[in-house]
Amino acid sequence: MANKRDYYEVLGVERGASDADIKKAYRKLAKQYHPDMNPGDKAAEAKFKEANEAYEILSDSQKRAQYDQFGHAGTDPNGFGGGFSSDFDFGGIGDIFESFFGGAGFGGRSARSKGGPQKGADLKYAMEIAFEEAAFGVEREISINRMENCGTCSGSGSKPGSTSSTCKHCNGTGQVQYKQSTPFGQFVNVKTCDVCHGEGKIITDPCPKCNGKGRIRKSVKIKINVPAGIDDGQTISLRGEGEPGTKGGPSGDLFITMRVKPHALFQRQGNDVVCEMPITFVQAVLGCELEVPTLDGKVKYSIPEGTQTGSVFRLKTKGIPFLRGNGRGDQYVKVNVEVPKKLNEKQKSLLKEFAELSGDDCHEQRKSFFDKMKNALGM
Ligand SMILES: [Zn+2]
Ligand SMILES: [Zn+2]
Repeated sequence: MANKRDYYEVLGVERGASDADIKKAYRKLAKQYHPDMNPGDKAAEAKFKEANEAYEILSDSQKRAQYDQFGHAGTDPNGFGGGFSSDFDFGGIGDIFESFFGGAGFGGRSARSKGGPQKGADLKYAMEIAFEEAAFGVEREISINRMENCGTCSGSGSKPGSTSSTCKHCNGTGQVQYKQSTPFGQFVNVKTCDVCHGEGKIITDPCPKCNGKGRIRKSVKIKINVPAGIDDGQTISLRGEGEPGTKGGPSGDLFITMRVKPHALFQRQGNDVVCEMPITFVQAVLGCELEVPTLDGKVKYSIPEGTQTGSVFRLKTKGIPFLRGNGRGDQYVKVNVEVPKKLNEKQKSLLKEFAELSGDDCHEQRKSFFDKMKNALGM
């Protein structure tokens, strides 16, 4: 996994390649390395899988954007994937096969692929974490319920010591042919054998643990490393932690979507943290040293004399760590002047005294407004 090639490199296209170029490049590789064209060639099979995987991501605008942003981290176990919410979609790839295997052959192929290895189901999970946990990362253990291969029969479904017999209906192929008449003529089609349900064998003595199903539902604990900097709605993908595949197909994936709880003081904007802080009228007038809450604890910040309400100050690198790479966002502190209420007589009289002493010179905005008003209205 560590040496995984870049998906663009796999397909041999530029990072900014158009969808059409990506499709074209994939089609060429898929044709070149398709197992039907290279029977028994393991290297070709690996290339084919690699190209499929690259195309799966790059042909989907959402997945592609996630990949551009987060790279391969998501394909490592416990790595960060981001937003891969849809299940593996053979539809797009099917299109392409149809166009070079020809429509008639495709029907057969489609049925054949049903009988062959199939990827297990993907699982989805939502996980709630605190604002700080999203900022700095957290390790969590979750319990999920998933199907697993039965340990007693190793997934065969047959009682240990007994064997299954070949399905006589389909001779063990899992498929039967049937003729179909259409206005265009008669076609031979293939469908899954309904006696053995495509398994090709009949279990005569079922495993008592799983009742012959070969798999059982289990609760498993999985450790999740939530990376620092993850945001609400982003998804961690754990390859192969979904349900097991059938007939040797790969396991599905586990997708964990983050729900970040709101913070009492902070709001997140990208990697920046925004905090609104009330200050008193006197603090605003005279300036003061504020104790500002940050993700790292309280810090001191001096605001100057005559700070206006709504002023925003920046605390560098006090924001959220970047998901990839080093560094952090900033924190922005917006100060709002709170007009005092419920004053007693003494307080009121002091303010009246203050008002008498303070003319227009210490209220620039007000002075400028009244000057403009005089000019505009002549009054
Ligand atoms: Zn079993
Ligand atoms: Zn059968």
